[in-house]
Amino acid sequence: MNDCLFCRIIAGEIPSTKVYEDETVFAFRDINPQAPTHILVIPKAHISGCDGVTSENSAVVAHIFEVIPQIAKAENLTGGYRVVSNCGADAGQTVPHLHFHILGGKQLALDMA
Ligand code: 5GP
Ligand code: ZN
Repeated sequence: MNDCLFCRIIAGEIPSTKVYEDETVFAFRDINPQAPTHILVIPKAHISGCDGVTSENSAVVAHIFEVIPQIAKAENLTGGYRVVSNCGADAGQTVPHLHFHILGGKQLALDMA
């Protein structure tokens, strides 16, 4: 997946500000933050997005949701935070590699659509 931006970030071919890494998950700061804390959490294995999650690869999604609270704690998001994954064009997905946005560090707007 050499042409995938996030695969290239995982490989270190494109620099990023890493906040977490283990065998299957990578997390880094969004280049265009929408909140004081804006982190992207991604599987190291290429999955196109929510639509690409299957019974074969969903274990990494469960693991991501174990990692997210650890990151939130490390980032001192004691007041709460939002987890978002955009799937497809109508949701505004711009990078076709599954990613979960962690947004926090301020009172977030309540409108979801
Ligand atoms: P999406 O719009 O697909 O839900 O989210 C993609 C996110 O990736 C956007 O928030 C965008 O700012 C972020 N992004 C795009 N290119 C880069 C990059 O090269 N480095 C980092 N750190 N974030 C990126
Ligand atoms: Zn990828």
